[in-house]
Amino acid sequence: MSKFTLPQLPYGYDALEPHFDAQTMEIHYTKHHQGYTDKLNAALENYDELQELSIIDLLKQVNELPEDIKSSVRNNGGGYFNHMLFWTSLTPNQKEPGGKLLEKIDSSFKNLDGFKEQFTQKAVTLFGSGWIWLVVDNDNLSIFQTPNQDNPIMESDVTILFGLDVWEHAYYLKFQNRRAEYIDAWWNLLNWEEVERRLLE
Ligand code: MN
Repeated sequence: MSKFTLPQLPYGYDALEPHFDAQTMEIHYTKHHQGYTDKLNAALENYDELQELSIIDLLKQVNELPEDIKSSVRNNGGGYFNHMLFWTSLTPNQKEPGGKLLEKIDSSFKNLDGFKEQFTQKAVTLFGSGWIWLVVDNDNLSIFQTPNQDNPIMESDVTILFGLDVWEHAYYLKFQNRRAEYIDAWWNLLNWEEVERRLLE
């Protein structure tokens, strides 16, 4: 039987300072992400054939899973996958977006500032816990909001470029209830080069 494992963080806990603090990073990774990983494995314990699927294939068919594990795989498999994407979408050495990615942003949202404004607005106004996503949908870029640990591939045939975690556990220690300040900090860390690589893939 195979198990999902927590992937290594691509940088140290303090690498994203001063934007993201080391204590939040450590707790977010070692407690929250680890917790989703462990609970996903526990949910699949009696389903050998599902353990052979990739996490993406598992989430794409989450609505067809057996009733007794459906919500656990949705929440914990979603949490497992979403946080992998989140960590790998961040960098301490940000470069401005360019090339094909910037062309796509310009054609879908007028310009980079317009895109950031729309994305930020959706992130600030999401009620409760959830994620904001940039996806490729029929060759256009579009922004999705999802609740809890859901993500767009559970319901739509889209490709995710990146997601922003707006659960309070992602920011409460440093920013308390000030979600907008956390989002401003996050914009300094987004790995545009990685996002462009995903777009071209
Ligand atoms: Mn999180």
